[in-house]
Amino acid sequence: MSPVMKLIILFREFIYYVHIFIYALRDEMENKPKECNHSWWVYSTAIEDQTLEVECPKCKSLGAVLDPTSKEWAKAFYAPQCPYKWREGNRVHHAINETFNK
Ligand SMILES: [Zn+2]
Repeated sequence: MSPVMKLIILFREFIYYVHIFIYALRDEMENKPKECNHSWWVYSTAIEDQTLEVECPKCKSLGAVLDPTSKEWAKAFYAPQCPYKWREGNRVHHAINETFNK
């Protein structure tokens, strides 16, 4: 392999790591789920589990309301077309953050 080719490969690798660094930094700046004072919005339902799916638009964390009442469940039917704010943050389980967070 020519030295020029080696240099090109090395440079490409360098750029690759620079990108990874920038993406990691950007995630760190934009998505701070642990520091976020979440504002939950119901955006969908999980029909099989009968749970409400919520997202915090500020930090993009995802969560679920595991025990919706039948009234809450009925209201959430329209959430995919018309998301609405969920005010009982203490009922949101968002352990799935850790796995879904990019
Ligand atoms: Zn948040």
